[in-house]
Amino acid sequence: MKFLPFPADAGDAIIVKQCRKPGWAAREAQWLAAAANYRRFRGNPWRVRPAGFTGADAEALFALYDTRGASGPINRIRRPAVPFKSCPMCGSLGGRSLDHALPRQRFPEFSILRENLVPACESCNSGEKGTTYRGTWPARFIHPYYDRWASRALWRVEFDPDLDVLQFGPAALPHLPRGRRRIVDFHVKTLLGKDWRDSVRREWSPLPAKLRRRLGPNPTAEEVRTELEIRLQDAADTYGINSWDAGFLRGALADPLVIEKLVERINSLPA
Ligand SMILES: [Zn+2]
Repeated sequence: MKFLPFPADAGDAIIVKQCRKPGWAAREAQWLAAAANYRRFRGNPWRVRPAGFTGADAEALFALYDTRGASGPINRIRRPAVPFKSCPMCGSLGGRSLDHALPRQRFPEFSILRENLVPACESCNSGEKGTTYRGTWPARFIHPYYDRWASRALWRVEFDPDLDVLQFGPAALPHLPRGRRRIVDFHVKTLLGKDWRDSVRREWSPLPAKLRRRLGPNPTAEEVRTELEIRLQDAADTYGINSWDAGFLRGALADPLVIEKLVERINSLPA
């Protein structure tokens, strides 16, 4: 959930260079056309169609990532000189990996196309997301190289009213335009899984004790809000505006019942 500049070596040069190798020249025109199509439709999984490579051609394209995936240029997408504050796809603090925005099983022609290689954490790149690359039309994932609007706050945690049970889910911010809201909702509901739910519970439990250390006993709802706003700023600066911490704090601040419950829990802490 972050807008990123294109990788340094995005563009056709990698295709042209590969097609100078023995046995590759015949694939060049179709491959370049597929890459142009990808850019024209901004990697949108509802607009970009598989280029139609089959048999040995599809296998050769698919396999390119196996030999190049750990190379310098692709590794620099995974681990840039200035590290990401959090996973550019889901906002976790998890390890560095790469995701094919359009999966190479269906789109072998984009297996090493830089525009299609998106830095992501390991959990984004496996488990919860699986082979899903789009939802029910028009839902799709945010594309960090094309969705410039992803640099702003996009989502928050929404809590069920019975806060003693603590049920919650991720949701797009309600003021986003309808089309973006569909995309963000699909994105967070698909990518934020068990690890994320554990992290929310980890934040929630000790929060009253932490707030009391800062605010003293019997704080007002307003004092709690102000402290959470400071924490949200800190989380946005340290981990990014769409990080898990920021989404949690935005959700708490948006819900008067959550503030009320925090005040109640602070007041019931043993002295
Ligand atoms: Zn992630």
